[in-house]
Formats: sequence, structure tokens, C-alpha cells
Amino acid sequence: MTTFSLWINGKAVSTANTFDVINPADKSVVAACPQASEQDLENAVAAAKEAFPAWAEKPWQERSDLMLKLADAVEANMVELSELLTKEQGKPQNGFADMGAGFETGGTLAWIRATAGLTLPVETIQEGDDLTIEVHRKPLGVVGSITPWNYPLLIGIWHIIPAMLAGNTVVMKPSSLTPLTTLRFAELANEILPAGVLNVVSGDGGIGRMITAHEDISKIVFTGSTPTGRHIMKSAAGNLKRLTLELGGNDAAIVLDDVDVASAVGKIFATAFINNGQTCAALKRLYVQDGVYDAICEGLTEIANSVITGNGMNPDSDFGPLQNPDQLQLVMDLAADAKERGARFLTGGEQTNTNGYYYPITLVADIKDGARLVDEEQFGPILPIIRFSDVEEAIVHANNSPNGLGGSVWSQDIERAREIASRLECGSVWINHHAVIQPHAPFGGIKQSGFGVEFSEAGLKEFTSIQTLHVYP
Ligand code: NDP
Repeated sequence: MTTFSLWINGKAVSTANTFDVINPADKSVVAACPQASEQDLENAVAAAKEAFPAWAEKPWQERSDLMLKLADAVEANMVELSELLTKEQGKPQNGFADMGAGFETGGTLAWIRATAGLTLPVETIQEGDDLTIEVHRKPLGVVGSITPWNYPLLIGIWHIIPAMLAGNTVVMKPSSLTPLTTLRFAELANEILPAGVLNVVSGDGGIGRMITAHEDISKIVFTGSTPTGRHIMKSAAGNLKRLTLELGGNDAAIVLDDVDVASAVGKIFATAFINNGQTCAALKRLYVQDGVYDAICEGLTEIANSVITGNGMNPDSDFGPLQNPDQLQLVMDLAADAKERGARFLTGGEQTNTNGYYYPITLVADIKDGARLVDEEQFGPILPIIRFSDVEEAIVHANNSPNGLGGSVWSQDIERAREIASRLECGSVWINHHAVIQPHAPFGGIKQSGFGVEFSEAGLKEFTSIQTLHVYP
């Protein structure tokens, strides 16, 4: 079994205590993971603080070149990283529509390379004989990154690459459910980066809490649940940390009756069940207008009946297990509530393989707002399909959620779709697609899906503060 270590001040650090990382496909132990102590965290923060001034002073291009080297290291170790991802997270190597572990490692490469090309030039606000005003961007110091278990490597990269590129140093805590890929990445990265720039401390939420409260950390970038986001806001208040919180979503899609059904169903299926539904901006509530309701249900059922859920290391598997038993239990509870309410299950609805945390792709028709499956984020392979007649009503239902991450409108009438899209209360809206994100397009939630922006120049700016320079000659 491979041994994993914390990464502090450029060195591998072993710990007195470890915890087991479980393979959700068969409940076997993948590896023992180091459990960071409070002293390990203190050492990591101290190392990051010490490394900060020299790292911040490096020319931007030099930091960008180092980020590109990180991408090269990921590329050279793609197979190993992808297999580790499957073992700890459960996602298939290839998977449905090639959106498995290879998609995550490939996305990691693409994101590092695209982000490394960003710059934050000085903005000249006013230029004249009497006065010049410029806005400069400064790194913040030590950034704390806390990541979840659904895309451990990719989300980690979203956090740390812009942070480091902008001149910050990092202390990172991966989810204790999926820490291994991050620790292996940290090992590769520490062969490239100066000591102390990237420190990784694995452990549970207790280590996360210490990070969010630490006086020497200037900013937290967090992806995970809304309740944890609330805890982080409170805990970060001591030194007024900057925050980027990317929390859950319950994205609604509104499908109008003039949609091109044949082209829509495949995209709806893929974006609802991407990563087995364990994706923050997956399509989670499907509102379909009367005229196409049956056709959409039939199209989705046909695809669902053709896919295989199984161990992600098996090349035939389209979908893997859920990542953990709590998530599986949530999905089963939502299905039970839907059944009690008389909803119609088009596929799935029963756990058939209990060797791992498996749940089949489940489509639930004839269900309404008020059912838990509609009102709560399922974060799993079960999709409610809600019928509507009046578009105005569908917009009200779509917005009737505390979340506001993404949404979509499906129609051949793009102008009408644009008008509806503009009325959806969410940070990203897609027309005739969903959940497709790009490194050059800002992404972030509103309402209780969090705040702050990731990706693009807007996301990079979140890892800086401004210094406005007024020059009187
Ligand atoms: P959490 O929010 O509990 O965990 C995310 C990360 O935060 C983990 O690294 C966790 O550590 C850490 N953490 C937990 N508590 C604290 C705390 N008080 N202070 C600082 N860090 C903390 O998410 P879960 O994994 O429990 O997932 C629960 C739900 O969250 C899912 O059902 C889904 O709805 C949503 N979710 C959303 C994601 C998204 O992409 N927006 C991603 C994952 C989940 P550890 O787990 O190691 O204890």
C-alpha cells in the first residue's frame, strides 16, 4: 500500500495518527492517511507565512511558469492520479460521456494552463498632468483552502492555482473522505515549488475549523455544504478573513415545449448525472412543459436503461458508487419520501448492489414542489421531473429555493429563453445546456449558494486586495 504524508515547508511529514480512506466501490481500505495534529497545522501556517514575502516578490511570469510546470507534472502522472481518484472517490476511469476520472485530471491540466495565462495588470483610472490614479493588485498572504470529496483534485486546483499565481502561499485541507489524490499532487508540486508555498494537512473538519480561525491566515476559499459555509463565516470573523464560499446548489432547468427533444435529452441526462449527480452545478430539478413532458421522460428513460453502474475500475461502468454512506442514505431518504407521495419511478429507486455505496440512475416523474427530492439538494443519481403548463409558474418554482448556483432554459426560441434566463435567481444560466463551466468564464453562487467568484480574471482578483495609488506630480 502506498504511504502518504502531509506536506509542510517542502517536506513530507508523517504523523502519529492515521485514518483509513475507504474505496466506495467495495468498502476496502485504499490507504492509511496521515491525521494532522494542531502542531502540524501551526507548522504549516508558519511555513506559509515565512515563504510568503519571497513568493509575493517573484515576477508574475516566474510564478506563471511554475504553475505550468505543475500542469506538466500532472500530465506526466495522469494514469496514477486518475486511478487514485477512482479508488478514493468512486468515479469511473472514463465513465458516461467520458466525464469520469480522466475528465477530472484532464480538466485539472486545462484549468492550470488557462489560469497560468491570466494576468492582473495595473489599471489606470485617471491619467493627467495634475493627477494619475492607478489600481494595483496585491496578494493577501496565507490562503486557507478547504475542499470537498466530489472533485478533490479539480476543485483543489481551482482554489490553489489562482491563489499562488497571485502571489499568496497556501495551507490546504482536503476532505478526509478523499485526501489521497491531493496529497500525491502535493508531493509532485513540492518538487517544483519553493518550500512553504503549498502546504497540505489532511484531517477532518477539526483541522478545517482551526484553519478558518487562524489569525495568520488572510483568506479562506471553501467548496462544500451551506451549513459548513455558515460555520466558516462565523469562525473567520476574528481577523475579518476574506472569503470565497462555493456552496451547494439545487439547479432548476426549465424545458419549454418548443425544445428540440432529440438534441436536449442527451445533454439533460449528462448534466443531471455528471459525477453520479455529485456535482455542485448539476441539473437537479427538471421542470418540463406539458407538450414535451412525455417525450422527455421517454428519452431520459431510454438512456437510463442503457447505462451501467458499477466499480469505476471496470471499463464498462458508466457510473460508479456514491462517494460515502451518508450521501447514499440521503438519496435513499429522498427516494422514500417521493414514493410515499405517490411519485412515479421511471427507473431505479432501489439499491441493488450493496457491495459498495451503489444506487442506480433513478428518474422520478409526477412529483411536485414540496417533496424533499425537489426542495432539497439530492447530490446523487436521482432526478425529479416536474410537469408545468404555465411558464410564469415554472419561473416562480425555479426561484423558490434558498440556493442560487445555476439554472437553465431549454428552447429553440433563443430570445424567449434569454428573457426567462434573465429572471432566474442564480449565478450562472445556460440556454440549451447546463453545468458546463470554463476557465475563462466567471462562476459563483448567489443566495445561500455562497459568494465570491471563481475562474477568469474576476476569480483571480479574489486572491488580491487593491492598492489605489494617487500620484500628484
Ligand atoms: P462539508 O461542507 O461538511 O465538507 C467540506 C469540507 O469542509 C471538508 O473538507 C470538511 O472536512 C470540511 N469541514 C467540515 N466542517 C468544517 C468546519 N466546521 N470548518 C471548516 N471545515 C470544515 O460537506 P460534506 O462533505 O459533508 O457534504 C455534505 C453536503 O455538502 C453534500 O450533500 C452536498 O449537498 C454538499 N456538497 C457540496 C459540494 C459543492 O461542490 N458545492 C461538494 C461537496 C458537498 P471533513 O469532511 O474532512 O471533516
